[in-house]
Amino acid sequence: MYDLAVIGAGPAGMAAAVSAADSGLAVVVIDEQTRAGGQIFRQPPVEFTDAKLKPTAGYGWATELITRFETHTSIKHLASTTAYGILRDRDQDEISLKLAVSGPEFNGALPARRLLIATGAYDLPVAFPGWTLPGVMTAGAVQSLLKSQRVLAGDDLVLAGSHPLLVIVADQLVAKGARVAELAFARGIPTPRELVAARRAVPGHADLLAESALAVARLVARGVKISTRTIVTGAFGDRCVESVELAKVDRNWKVSTQRRRLATSTLVLGYGFSPSTELARQANCDMVWNSPKGGWVVAHDSRMETSAPGIFVAGEPTGVGGADQARAEGALAGLAIARELSAPDAPSDKAFAQAQDNVGRAENFSSVVQTMFEPKRDAMTTLATPETTICRCELVTRAVVQTTLDDNPFISTASAVKLQCRSGMGPCQGRYCEGTVSGIVSAEREVPLPETGYFTAHLPVKPVPVQSLTWLDS
Ligand SMILES: Cc1cc2nc3c(=O)[nH]c(=O)nc-3n(C[C@H](O)[C@H](O)[C@H](O)COP(=O)(O)OP(=O)(O)OC[C@H]3O[C@@H](n4cnc5c(N)ncnc54)[C@H](O)[C@@H]3O)c2cc1C
Repeated sequence: MYDLAVIGAGPAGMAAAVSAADSGLAVVVIDEQTRAGGQIFRQPPVEFTDAKLKPTAGYGWATELITRFETHTSIKHLASTTAYGILRDRDQDEISLKLAVSGPEFNGALPARRLLIATGAYDLPVAFPGWTLPGVMTAGAVQSLLKSQRVLAGDDLVLAGSHPLLVIVADQLVAKGARVAELAFARGIPTPRELVAARRAVPGHADLLAESALAVARLVARGVKISTRTIVTGAFGDRCVESVELAKVDRNWKVSTQRRRLATSTLVLGYGFSPSTELARQANCDMVWNSPKGGWVVAHDSRMETSAPGIFVAGEPTGVGGADQARAEGALAGLAIARELSAPDAPSDKAFAQAQDNVGRAENFSSVVQTMFEPKRDAMTTLATPETTICRCELVTRAVVQTTLDDNPFISTASAVKLQCRSGMGPCQGRYCEGTVSGIVSAEREVPLPETGYFTAHLPVKPVPVQSLTWLDS
């Protein structure tokens, strides 16, 4: 049995694995991707001629972390493998955990003394007319194609949203020869008050901020139009995107009548991220609502342990905080687990306190970014018309959700809507419609968004081949 099973080989999972393994624990790391690195340090397949690790601007520590992770003799990396459920035996005094896993090397229930959920985040979806047309993509997906396959999502693109990642993606696309017709931000330029508040983000992050400023400068120099207080309200085309509609918005993203059309073959959306919390939900870990941090995040103590004994969490599921914070939280969780299991080289009190300080410092930076770029969720919900598909897996429109609410006056939660009209029951298990469904329920029932709750998660939390479930019978 492994001492620790980590789900996710991004900065959080890698840092946790290395700190736990350095302390003397036997660690297994499960990740859906073929190579370690997570979203930000996504590597191309080993078969690529340029597959060698390259330093990532602003993150000088990444190459060393990935190399240590890949070469550590006490870390077993199960790549191309999905973790789709957590099994807990509650009758025993001892913590008894198993991870349901499907992959080429292992298929079944993987027992481990402790689990760490480091599953990262995914692009925050927003539903508006035409958002399901081929050619509409998220910024993360466009970047993944570029990083892992060296493929441009399109030659002629419009980028729209509110998250600073859009600037980085636009810069990467232009550098590879794409034409970015416009970069449209729903928010305005930072106010003097925001800039004053942002000063505390500078210490320790000057490189990162400089890199972002340089990316903006490069885009301006190349003639890319950057507009503010502008939101995308529609994507149009017969079989794929041919044009998009952009509208002026006020400071609360309320859409005005001032609208224009722009021809493009690819629309790239970047409103931020939603933490990947499905495994934590399925394991009944307590969740808390924190909109700047990305919505529903996993509650944890100062050692990164969740409310479910033996299950720890690090990185974006605790709140979208970026790679520095993910690494710091992962390292802390690894050390906390090593102490709890009395590992041979468990860290001293001093080393542990240092790891806790590192998390605090990273939070200083991430909280500034989170507050400044928090999406206006209520305004985003208004973009979908009655005909707009809300749940793209089960093809549920806004009108169907509306009828469900009209016909069932006592329904006031997102999960109840899901049970009634199947929105969120498809292969993505609600990752793409939960926010919109909650927003509609909140607006219709006139209750704050968090009161509408979240979709419950069940095993399997992600699609896996049916034959990988046969062990459940034994
Ligand atoms: C598509 C995308 C692109 C991004 N690009 C950037 C960028 O360029 N710059 C930037 O500053 N930030 C970027 N981010 C934000 C980024 O998530 C963080 O900065 C950082 O990578 C977080 O680290 P993490 O370890 O918490 O999660 P991640 O790096 O997201 O790693 C989580 C890992 O968990 C794996 N995983 C998730 N669920 C399962 C499961 N059930 N079974 C098995 N494996 C699973 C995933 O495959 C992934 O490798 C991006 C985010 C996304 C979603």
